[in-house]
Amino acid sequence: MELSGRHILASQKSLPSDRDFQATNPVANQLLEPKFSEGCSAEVDYAVNQAANDFDLFRKIAPAKRGEFLEAIATELLALKTPLIHRCNLETGLPLPRLEGELARTTNQLKIFAEILKGSSFYKIQIDRALPERNPVPKPDIRLTHIPVGPVVVFGASNFPLAFSVAGGDTASAFAAGCPVIVKGHPSHPGTSEIAGSAIQQAVEKCGLPKGIFSLIQGSENHVGEDLVKHPKIKAVAFTGSQAGGRALFNIAASRPEPIPVFAEMGSVNPLFILPGALLNRGAVIAQKYVESITLGVGQFCTNPGLLFVLKSPDLDGFLTSIVEELKQIKPAPMLNLRIKKNFLARVSRLSTSPEVVFSGGDYLHEDHGCLVLPSLFKTDAATFLAQENLSEEVFGPAAIIVECSSIDEMMATADHLEGQLTATVHAEPNEENTCGKLFSILEKKAGRLLLNDFPTGVEVCSAMNHGGPYPATTDSRWTSVGSAAMNRFLRPICYQNFTQPLLPEELKD
Ligand code: NAP
Repeated sequence: MELSGRHILASQKSLPSDRDFQATNPVANQLLEPKFSEGCSAEVDYAVNQAANDFDLFRKIAPAKRGEFLEAIATELLALKTPLIHRCNLETGLPLPRLEGELARTTNQLKIFAEILKGSSFYKIQIDRALPERNPVPKPDIRLTHIPVGPVVVFGASNFPLAFSVAGGDTASAFAAGCPVIVKGHPSHPGTSEIAGSAIQQAVEKCGLPKGIFSLIQGSENHVGEDLVKHPKIKAVAFTGSQAGGRALFNIAASRPEPIPVFAEMGSVNPLFILPGALLNRGAVIAQKYVESITLGVGQFCTNPGLLFVLKSPDLDGFLTSIVEELKQIKPAPMLNLRIKKNFLARVSRLSTSPEVVFSGGDYLHEDHGCLVLPSLFKTDAATFLAQENLSEEVFGPAAIIVECSSIDEMMATADHLEGQLTATVHAEPNEENTCGKLFSILEKKAGRLLLNDFPTGVEVCSAMNHGGPYPATTDSRWTSVGSAAMNRFLRPICYQNFTQPLLPEELKD
């Protein structure tokens, strides 16, 4: 498929622009053709107005037809599979098998939402019938349903170029709710964004839907995203990325004359605790799986378990040796882009001045290897961890800190010290349930997903999934960005009091 380098505005290609940017191949460190237009305020305004104009038409079509639209997007993505995965591999350096898996996840989540739209459970209907004879005051008929909030801005994520970008989970859940979507493409993978965007464009056309329900605006500068969030006709924002980015957009949204919700997923250090019985009985297996987890996707997952807490014990040396042996097997791999590698180097270099370096990324801790990196592992004690704030910050990439605790009480204190997290994990044996329960009782207040004897990377897309957590993991811990409940972010409750049957929405009629 030939890339145009243009935006998709209300499902149509934009005119060429005089300002542009290019993607870089992180493996070859070379610019990739073609040049992509930089978005401007006029294009933002046009896209949002088209979305707002077509909102009424889109929200009123039967949910099952919206489901057909989601299925059509999945079909169009699969029809473009070869160019999509090829371009994505060039722009991200992510290996083809990973991208094939990610595309399967992307089409699967579209189909999950399509399935939900065949039923009526997403309306979460409540009906309180009238009691005209009630004394002293008669009770009116009151019926509750949920309606879409309006046009939504989705920010493409660098680390999930398919599953959390143009046609990813945020877009799928907003469309499922009945909201038009304007995507701000991530500047690291504009070609991937254009191909996925053209799949949505085709689906809009084939399903005969109003064109304004989808736009993709590309850009490498903050102002496009800022203009989108400030636009008065935008009603919600979905974001996955850095804490700085998510917080900046949240602040902009909160200071609008009409504040709007920003569902920002900003990452986490995902603490993992190993109790002594588990270390004794399963240390070598945990070491192997832990290294797999922190190096998966070159460590660029928001669920990367970057902090590991263990008790000081004679078994610890053997465990550390097993981890180091596993780390030695890891080959250099490219990070998504040079900016992310520079952030990674800065964080690792700060850590190298304080905790003990257990394993070093060596030569790959320099920019002369382009985007390539090797993992790094550090060790510190609980007292230092509790005293040094920077040790609890996310390191986005293949790095982790092992925190040695002198007692279970100190381990509990480290858990209590943590900020909000997406996940928290405990490895324990059945005879350690008492301690494990106490630890989870602290961790319940910290994280959105708790894991027992498992690893947090790999987030299942299903109805019971919660991918969220207290700040700073997200800007609102009550919502998930993965799984079928993700569409609830873009629905709002509305109740109808004393309505006659003909005037009630279809789903609320007797
Ligand atoms: P990012 O810098 O947060 O950018 C993500 C998107 O948000 C981009 O489209 C960017 O647009 C936009 N954006 C960021 N700040 C903005 C602002 N102030 N105003 C308007 N738009 C803004 O994330 P990234 O590029 O993916 O990676 C950078 C760092 O983010 C990584 O090193 C890592 O620390 C973190 N990260 C975390 C996760 C996670 O899941 N926790 C995922 C990815 C990245 P522009 O490019 O146009 O500025």
